[in-house]
Amino acid sequence: MAFKRPDLPYGLNELAPFVSEEQMDYHYNKHHEAYFKKLNALVDGQKESEMDLKDLVIASNDGVFNNAAQAWNHSFFWECMSPNGGGAPKENTLNALERDFGGVEAFKKELSEKAAALFGSGWAWLAKDDSGKLEIMPLSNADTPLKHGKTPVLTLDVWEHAYYIDYRNARPQFIEKFFDVINWDFVESCYNK
Ligand code: MN
Repeated sequence: MAFKRPDLPYGLNELAPFVSEEQMDYHYNKHHEAYFKKLNALVDGQKESEMDLKDLVIASNDGVFNNAAQAWNHSFFWECMSPNGGGAPKENTLNALERDFGGVEAFKKELSEKAAALFGSGWAWLAKDDSGKLEIMPLSNADTPLKHGKTPVLTLDVWEHAYYIDYRNARPQFIEKFFDVINWDFVESCYNK
């Protein structure tokens, strides 16, 4: 059984002006698809191909991990955004952001700074531990909080392929506009898990 890339939860053009249709088309249809293709080729005929993708991310290493994690990370990232996104965090997320960061603005500042400062390719994650405490985890390449025993709550892809068509080298502007499309309902559902 092969891993299958999930449908995008909105149209390719629907996150504009955060990202253009061309940017989303490359990101979703070329980059995300390529991780699934490579992963399926690597695990073809092996027991890993029968695993739940998230379990495989946690259990795997090297090339299988890189492609499994990138497959999972992007599927999660798409859910973190919505054409109707932005605005304020929902109740439990809001309370946790106030408790753990001192407020929404302080959280946004820390996420923005750490996402901008992440050297090379990677992801800026908001993750929670077993007690519900939130922290920002800037992680390189395909790395994910799942690998560190944490639950992902929100993520932003800061690989150059995520923004280079629209923003060229201006990663900070890409990060700034991300807050306009965050799907806080999805974030709340992740926080409540
Ligand atoms: Mn990406």
